[in-house]
Amino acid sequence: MVEKREFGYFTFGQKVMVRHISLKSSSELFELIKKVTPLHMYHSAAHYQYPQAPMEEKVWLGAELIFDIDADHLNLPCKERHDFSICEDCKSMLPPGSEQCNNCGSTKVKRTDWVCENCIEAAKGEVYKLLDFLEMDFGIPYSKISVNFSGNRGFHVIVNDEKLFTLDQVSRKEITDYILGNGLDLNLYGLPTGKRRYPSATLEYTDGSWRGRLARGAFEVIKDLHKPGIAEKLIKLIGNKEYNKLLQIKDSLLTSWLDSPKWETLKPSVIKAIITLAVEEVRSSIDTIVTTDIHRLLRLANTLNGKTGFLAKRLEPETLEQFNPFVDAVVMPDEACKVHVIYMPKIRICGEWYGPYNNEDVKVPTCLAVLLLCKGIATLA
Ligand SMILES: [Zn+2]
Ligand SMILES: [Zn+2]
Repeated sequence: MVEKREFGYFTFGQKVMVRHISLKSSSELFELIKKVTPLHMYHSAAHYQYPQAPMEEKVWLGAELIFDIDADHLNLPCKERHDFSICEDCKSMLPPGSEQCNNCGSTKVKRTDWVCENCIEAAKGEVYKLLDFLEMDFGIPYSKISVNFSGNRGFHVIVNDEKLFTLDQVSRKEITDYILGNGLDLNLYGLPTGKRRYPSATLEYTDGSWRGRLARGAFEVIKDLHKPGIAEKLIKLIGNKEYNKLLQIKDSLLTSWLDSPKWETLKPSVIKAIITLAVEEVRSSIDTIVTTDIHRLLRLANTLNGKTGFLAKRLEPETLEQFNPFVDAVVMPDEACKVHVIYMPKIRICGEWYGPYNNEDVKVPTCLAVLLLCKGIATLA
């Protein structure tokens, strides 16, 4: 449906998006791309009567239901290890979050995000959870879902289903609240919300919707009690003493909870804390703003992302697991290219490790050179 969408793009030189473009066919779209060779190419998830008109006159007809998952929003520990900053004046590498250059004193400091295999796997994990919500709770078949790599650190999940097409902003917000577990009323699940014990929790692992998710999530939290991320948060919620008690009975808990959760074996305050963490584990970390914006422009699938030079590849839910962007989204030739790199953490591209590089001239495959040039951390040598 090219003719009902709005198209927009960024050129290599300008920082303002050229938008409100209407095209009659995919061949017109190809012609436009060839003519303007954009840095980034976008289209609306919405269909309009008049895509070329100003926003208030477009006449909105409906929009695909879209979700955005970005590794940058997942608070991953690898982020602190691989992100860094660059001084735009003297081109030195600085620790992430620096506000001033410790070499020349300049305040023109640019934060540079990096992406690693861990970032991608974590983002994929969020996509799997989202797909489970869409399929199991909303009954949307995989045939109506595409999962597109963003070309950088995340994925766009696009649902193209007529029945959902005209959902308004409020309905889309309800969907994101459901997937994020916002406003879950634990009382309704028979779970304790205060000090009082509620003997009515009947959630089983095999239950549908949030019931089963909470039960399975609680089991996972108990299984991972000793892991630093879980331990830290639990101690904050129930204190050291309760946490240590819990840790001591972990093995027997796991045995007794194996077939079905035994809620009555734990104090209400402990259940409440475990459930709080379970919600964090099982929800999918989607970006609410993207889903509820019914006029959103999305990167056009199978075009290059101008921040990386990687292909924003269109995938199917079934092919996501095999997908490795550092191999499958690489489209530039492997021909060697000489660049001067300010700084680059190590990276594996097409099975080969490169870097780390620090203020040096190197010969790297074109795809890596383009990535570095796009990020502004290298110059052609
Ligand atoms: Zn400097
Ligand atoms: Zn990472």
